[in-house]
Amino acid sequence: MNRMDEAAKKLKIDWETYKTLRSPRTSLAVTFPIRMDNGSVEIFTGYRVLYNYVRGPSKGGVRYHPEVNLEEITALAAIMTLKCAVAEVPFGGAKGGVACDPSKMSINELERLTRRYTYMIMPLLGPDKDIPAPDVNTNQQTMAWMMDTYSMLAGYTVPGVVTGKPFQLGGSKGRGYATGRGVAFVTSEMLQRLNMPLKGATVAIQGFGNVGSNTARFLHQEGCKIVGVTDISGGLLNEGGLDIPALLKHVEDEKKISGFKDGEFITDYRRANERLLKSDVDILIPAALENQITEENALDVRAKVIVEGANGPITGTADKILSKKGTTVVPDIIANSGGVIVSYFEWVQDVQAYLWTEDQVNQRLKELITSAFTGVWDAAQEHKTDMRQAAYMEAVGKVVEVTRLRGIFP
Ligand code: NAD
Repeated sequence: MNRMDEAAKKLKIDWETYKTLRSPRTSLAVTFPIRMDNGSVEIFTGYRVLYNYVRGPSKGGVRYHPEVNLEEITALAAIMTLKCAVAEVPFGGAKGGVACDPSKMSINELERLTRRYTYMIMPLLGPDKDIPAPDVNTNQQTMAWMMDTYSMLAGYTVPGVVTGKPFQLGGSKGRGYATGRGVAFVTSEMLQRLNMPLKGATVAIQGFGNVGSNTARFLHQEGCKIVGVTDISGGLLNEGGLDIPALLKHVEDEKKISGFKDGEFITDYRRANERLLKSDVDILIPAALENQITEENALDVRAKVIVEGANGPITGTADKILSKKGTTVVPDIIANSGGVIVSYFEWVQDVQAYLWTEDQVNQRLKELITSAFTGVWDAAQEHKTDMRQAAYMEAVGKVVEVTRLRGIFP
């Protein structure tokens, strides 16, 4: 039985209404040609899955990765549905992606791919329908191209069709850092509940992209000691604590951690991950991809707390092993919800054409994510269960309640 079914069973909610949440509402697969810089034509496959939109327009990132497939995108779209419900933002859940290797593509090829993908999924998109955002290997520039393509086809400028876009195009202050900032808030809340001091806590982070690097930035500012980080170029380990401000500067220039001289560097990212995931730290933050902690390595994890910066980094079986071991896991649908919370703020600012200050954004992010965390923590105490199941129960309960109120059409 999957995590959603388990939550529904434990909640004893009406199974007939719950059933509507077990499958995606709309799944679109598109195949399209792109002219490459050398004159050849390559065929790409992309997806957009709107998992559920009873609570509002669907929301979710777009990723570019060679392993993107419909099953993965559907699972991630389901997670988005639950994340928006837990955070109480009025959105449903979606996800999209294109199977491609952006590291082997030029900026012009990526622009053509993004524009054609946007065109192909255009019938689903719209500020009141479905609103993409950046995810793995996509960024502000990708969102700028998507927004421009949509606007060109609509015939007028529509900033609210994507979030995570540049500030100059209607992006929100603070969106770039929001997911990492949220991970740091949630980590701090979790440690308080466990009576563990945040200052001086040791941290290992897998992935040093948007989520991983900004999590490192804010936890470092809170006095944590970041003793290990990995990315696709390798891993850096330093028991004395890495110089995070200098590493952030290096990654801003080089786009990868390799080449940074601090502590031990491991060139093979698989070996680096192996070392990182079993390091003796207080907090482990997987912030790269899904299925990183599996039944194969879960027993070796020594961290007391795992905060899921990435979506789905722990498999179901690994979850059970960790739970038995007494490892506290803060699940993705609460841990990394800072991104979608500030995406919601960005969308609100776009539709109202009224910009907030960065302080307003950060303050409201803190309020929403802390309240969501507290709701999940309280539910875990009430139902005597772990944070993952409590978060799923909160989320499933909210989506099912809205489904019940709306009724089943026709
Ligand atoms: P990103 O592309 O900015 O960064 C990904 C990072 O992971 C890069 O440093 C990359 O080198 C590294 N990486 C990739 N494969 C790796 C591997 N096998 N081992 C170690 N490192 C590896 O992506 P991101 O936006 O930071 O997203 C990371 C995760 O967080 C994803 O699961 C994504 O769905 C999730 N997420 C992102 C956001 C957001 O706002 N960007 C919000 C919520 C959740």
